[in-house]
Amino acid sequence: MNSKIRYQRRRLADVAAALRLARTQTSREQGPRAQLAHHQQQRLESVVRHAATHSPFYRRWFDQTGALGAEPVELNRLPVLDKSLLMEHFDELVCDPRLRRDPLLEWAGRLTRDQLYLDRYRVMLTSGSSGRPGLFVYDAAGWRSTGAQFLRASGWARLRPSLPRQRLAFLGGAAPSHVSRQGAATMGIGLHRVLALPVTLPLPQLVEALNRFQPTFLHAYPSVAMWLAHEQHAGRLQLSPQMLVTVAELRTPEMTRRLQDAFGVRPFDVYGCTEGLWGSECEHHQGIHLFEDSTLVENVDPDGHPVPAGEPGARLLVTNLYNLVQPMLRLEVTDLVTLDPDPCRCGRSLVRARAIHGRSDDILSLPARDGGRVAVHPLHFALLTRDPQVREFQVVQDGPVLGIRIVPSQAPAASDDLLEARLGQAITQQLLGLGVHDPQVTVERRQQLPRSAGGKLKLVIADPATRPVHTSL
Ligand SMILES: [Zn+2]
Repeated sequence: MNSKIRYQRRRLADVAAALRLARTQTSREQGPRAQLAHHQQQRLESVVRHAATHSPFYRRWFDQTGALGAEPVELNRLPVLDKSLLMEHFDELVCDPRLRRDPLLEWAGRLTRDQLYLDRYRVMLTSGSSGRPGLFVYDAAGWRSTGAQFLRASGWARLRPSLPRQRLAFLGGAAPSHVSRQGAATMGIGLHRVLALPVTLPLPQLVEALNRFQPTFLHAYPSVAMWLAHEQHAGRLQLSPQMLVTVAELRTPEMTRRLQDAFGVRPFDVYGCTEGLWGSECEHHQGIHLFEDSTLVENVDPDGHPVPAGEPGARLLVTNLYNLVQPMLRLEVTDLVTLDPDPCRCGRSLVRARAIHGRSDDILSLPARDGGRVAVHPLHFALLTRDPQVREFQVVQDGPVLGIRIVPSQAPAASDDLLEARLGQAITQQLLGLGVHDPQVTVERRQQLPRSAGGKLKLVIADPATRPVHTSL
């Protein structure tokens, strides 16, 4: 059988399995928490025993630490994995000796279309906060679990296969090694009509393609959805989607309001990371339910101790319960999350992230009036998105100076000359209100802002020299 037929068959099998898994998981949502815990423990036993048998790295690590005692496996006795360890020991961590970090990085970097490695593995790169790429390999079970999470989130947003077929537009990363592109490629098997557009295309081209396609379901980063909202307001874009889903970046309440104004639908916020943790808002839009039956989540403080619900954590530890080829057990993800202690009105037993405050390296540390430091969160710059003259912004810290780059929403000639002064003053006032000592703010217009390889916009780029230090283990 040639490679193309194998690829097509595998995609069909992936979607069929993901649909089945999503159905099983959805049927468990309203059940008791104990039922979920039982499922989680079963999956945890499988992935840990598999790692102990097939991963030389884990075999040695479990031996050295004695983490794997008798039954049952106890999650909190397992060692914590961080990304640098994962990349450094990649070759002996994976459970298939044919997978080697450097050739894989090279292969994934050269991809020009959707393709499986050795006809079986999905290989994904992340840009990584330190600029060092993260490398993730998924086997069939791992990828189907990811697909199930996508289908489940879409079902919550009321997207189901139908006739005439739904029209899905995904605006995401340009590189075929990005999870958004591989997800769109997997879904393009005929259940829905799928259009995947890289956000690196010039805006007029995106607008033209979307006007022609008329998506019923639009999936984009919040910053990209905001471009589209401006275009829609200006009348150049004319869409009437039934559903809008935003993913992966911070969405401020002002942005939510402007998106709802432009498209007439309440956007669903979805969380997803290439490590395998996904979640979605339910119909009540009161925080993001995390799909704990695919991935275990621990919210911990800077020293790695569990943080009670209701209090913000310093990072998450994520355990992927399905992917066997690259075991990810208690892998650190630098998202700052507060879990909600209260049950949701929808009755689902899945825990809810009341807020995902962004990544810990998005937090600025500035000198305080009283001599200490003030942590300034990206949401404190949300007032920039409230200004109708601002299409998007980015804050770059350089020593004591905060450089604010903005892309104006109109052509410069028609724009307001006092914009820079007005925004600079508003941000200075905001920082003074937070207790920052002598804020130094500059505002500068740009034609466009730099995006990561995945097409994401980082709202805040902290100066590494002033970043608050967290202990790593
Ligand atoms: Zn809910």
